[in-house]
Amino acid sequence: MTVVSARPASFEVLAKAAPGSATQARLGRLTLPHGVVETPQFMPVGTNATVKSLDPDDLETAGATIVLANTYHLFLRPGHDRIERLGGLHRFMGWDRPILTDSGGFQVVSLADAREIDEDGATFRSHIDGSTQRLTPESSMAVQAALGADVAVAFDQPVYPSSPRAEVVDATERTHRWAVRSVQAHGRPDQALFGVIQGGLEPDLREASTRFIAGLPFDGLNIGGLAGDETPAQRREVLGLVIGLLEADPRPRYLMGLGSPGDLLDAVLQGVDLFDSVLPSRVARTGQVWVPGGRLDLRSAELLDDPGPIEHGCQCLACRRFSRAYVAHLFRARELLAYRLATLHNLTFTLDFMARIREAIGAGRLEAALPELRLRATRTATDEDATMVSEAAGEPA
Ligand SMILES: [Zn+2]
Repeated sequence: MTVVSARPASFEVLAKAAPGSATQARLGRLTLPHGVVETPQFMPVGTNATVKSLDPDDLETAGATIVLANTYHLFLRPGHDRIERLGGLHRFMGWDRPILTDSGGFQVVSLADAREIDEDGATFRSHIDGSTQRLTPESSMAVQAALGADVAVAFDQPVYPSSPRAEVVDATERTHRWAVRSVQAHGRPDQALFGVIQGGLEPDLREASTRFIAGLPFDGLNIGGLAGDETPAQRREVLGLVIGLLEADPRPRYLMGLGSPGDLLDAVLQGVDLFDSVLPSRVARTGQVWVPGGRLDLRSAELLDDPGPIEHGCQCLACRRFSRAYVAHLFRARELLAYRLATLHNLTFTLDFMARIREAIGAGRLEAALPELRLRATRTATDEDATMVSEAAGEPA
């Protein structure tokens, strides 16, 4: 039997914690035009229509079911019109599973030079060639329609969590007006649209933003303006407030920009369904790989004689086939294979971690599994420092 959904996205909660339980974690299934995404789920980031150093088969083997591509980057290079002429983003990047494109707002704020925000949109200088560019809610929707991802995101104006209240007020209210314009401008029937809740760390603004954005006909709700310079306690407080208000809301909740295993677990426990971050792939390219209980630095000299795999039992190519000594050697020699192997490992580790969480929720034993999950995800000081990462210009690999 074929179920025809009126919307391009449907979300079903399959299991959640019993009432009165200490966690809000839930197991869900997001059905999109190019496939099904089991939640809680992590989306690897393919900034320039590629997850750096990996091909689509690598991504599938690592367990990725959805990837994120950056609207800002593809708008500037190679251009959304060109990608559309070439058959759309799925064909262009050779990936036939779901894709989500972000709104471009975060990169306008974090990467572009000479940025000026007015009521209509944002004017900025391209970080690639210095040309003056402009994005508005309408043009962001047009760019994302041309790219043709399964999920588009409403154009928003993020601010850093530590911004002064007046700035947060201004950006949050503008984000609301832009959300309405994004809904009006979004016309592609085979593309879902998610909206972004802002409001910084201010409880009253967060509450107002949650109510406003949830009041619009979005297919999913993004929680923006976190995974920045806030403390874990501040993040927990904001998430508690937002998700408390969304308790009866049937749509998926997506916390943008969070990527260390410990942070992912904490947010899942609070009821978040979707995540994205460049963190696992970015730290991999510096030789940092995640293993149960912490991180391994592949540049450290003591690994040069280590015949064991990065992680016993890991199914990634690096661990199945090579020793720590070999990958450590590749990093020292700056061989290109080093970046691919380390990235494959970190994404496999992250996606496998999410699968373990889903399995525990589905089996109704998440609380019993927590000590083991926490041990795998041991948070280090470096993870805390690295939660705020954006794809900078001109980065190698
Ligand atoms: Zn591995």
